[in-house]
Amino acid sequence: MIQFDRVVKKFGDHVVLRELDFSVKPGEFVTLIGPSGSGKTTILRLLMTLETADDGTIQVGGEYLSHMERGGKLVPADERHLRNQRKRIGMVFQQFNLFPNMKVLQNVTEAPVRALGLSKAEAEQRARELLEMVGLSDKIDAHPMQLSGGQQQRVAIARALAMRPQVLLLDEVTSALDPELVAGVLAVLKEIARTTDITFLCVTHEMQFAQDVSDRVMMFDQGQVIEDAPPEQLFTQPAHERTRSFLHAVI
Ligand code: ADP
Repeated sequence: MIQFDRVVKKFGDHVVLRELDFSVKPGEFVTLIGPSGSGKTTILRLLMTLETADDGTIQVGGEYLSHMERGGKLVPADERHLRNQRKRIGMVFQQFNLFPNMKVLQNVTEAPVRALGLSKAEAEQRARELLEMVGLSDKIDAHPMQLSGGQQQRVAIARALAMRPQVLLLDEVTSALDPELVAGVLAVLKEIARTTDITFLCVTHEMQFAQDVSDRVMMFDQGQVIEDAPPEQLFTQPAHERTRSFLHAVI
């Protein structure tokens, strides 16, 4: 579902991704761990087409993301191609980024109506189902600032799902939350991962969550994946010294 081939990303002279290769299968839940500043968010931003790779290719669901095929050659994608690719990929951010002046229900219906062309009635029905799934049926008429951080994050999750993404990217989704609100958000994500065929790529410092929910965990350092293993293996018997010292520092 996701494939990076020899992806290079630099900021000025600083090489953040060095010929990065990895792939994620359909329906898999893959977590990226690694030190701060190692490039994890950059990987997600490339998938959101918020950044462009300097070299290499990225495919999602067998289609090139920032390239398209023209006359048997790969050329940079035009805006229309990018727009279509973006529809397949959702993201939930550390800061929930809800529309503050819209009620909860409208936060969830806005994009499907505008970008997918759903009727208001269809979008509302789907939004109600999703808000029930994240435990917020009683908050549909609230404004974001009337909600706790955990509730806002659950609205953001419902909003991402309303676009019916094939891939959902999670970037430190609990980092901005008070500790007592973290478990509710993680429980919702775990349930979505269990009950849908969405492919997840997750960046988190919640090692217990990573261990509970991931099919695979990738340890990322200095622009490359240095270890890639099921969580029960990576967390208990890391093969790489760098993984061992990282886990020792964060757990
Ligand atoms: P992580 O998510 O692992 O903490 P990031 O992907 O956010 O790491 O950042 C990787 C590196 O790239 C860092 O050194 C960061 O300072 C740098 N970086 C990220 N975005 C930019 C940018 N827009 N301009 C310049 N440097 C950037």
